[in-house]
Amino acid sequence: MTDASPTPTDAGPKKVTVATVWLDGCSGCHMSFLDIDERLIDLAQHIELVYSPIVDVKHPPAGTNLGLIEGAISNEEDAHKARMMREACGFLISLGDCAVTGNVPSMRNVFELGTVIDRAFRETADLQPQTPTVGVPPLLPKVMPVHEVVPVDLHLPGCPPPADAIYEVLSELIAGRTPDPLRLSRFGR
Ligand code: SF4
Repeated sequence: MTDASPTPTDAGPKKVTVATVWLDGCSGCHMSFLDIDERLIDLAQHIELVYSPIVDVKHPPAGTNLGLIEGAISNEEDAHKARMMREACGFLISLGDCAVTGNVPSMRNVFELGTVIDRAFRETADLQPQTPTVGVPPLLPKVMPVHEVVPVDLHLPGCPPPADAIYEVLSELIAGRTPDPLRLSRFGR
């Protein structure tokens, strides 16, 4: 765990700043976050969302209190964004099984990268079989969970983690307490 706390304890009423990012995942973890439903209004009194797929900001601001990463690390852009989040965020959460273990995206790891690319873009293409190289980030040889690229402070498993679990983890951290994520969720749930 990093030294930085997710709770700005000396900052009075200042809100906890939160960044979220979507790497190689299905967005289901972010959907589960939104499934907190009306409790989002309660959370909004305590947090400020400073970077997210639902916020039009290109980089997490330095000094962000809390970061959540959905998805595995599958390409160079994923790795860059994970490092960007680690640098910016005092406390970093791997959100969901793809981030925690690699999960579905890592199923390609049993094949060589070239075999995967050929299968996806050449063997199964009806028209113009070709490997895309422009405008897409290069795939990494193997898909990795987030903690193999950057240190992670808390793992919240689940596919996706239940909204109740996400809410309780955030609430506990905001209150300055350490949540027990395995009490709240489990792998593959
Ligand atoms: S953990 Fe499940 S819900 Fe979350 S991004 Fe991966 S596949 Fe989607």
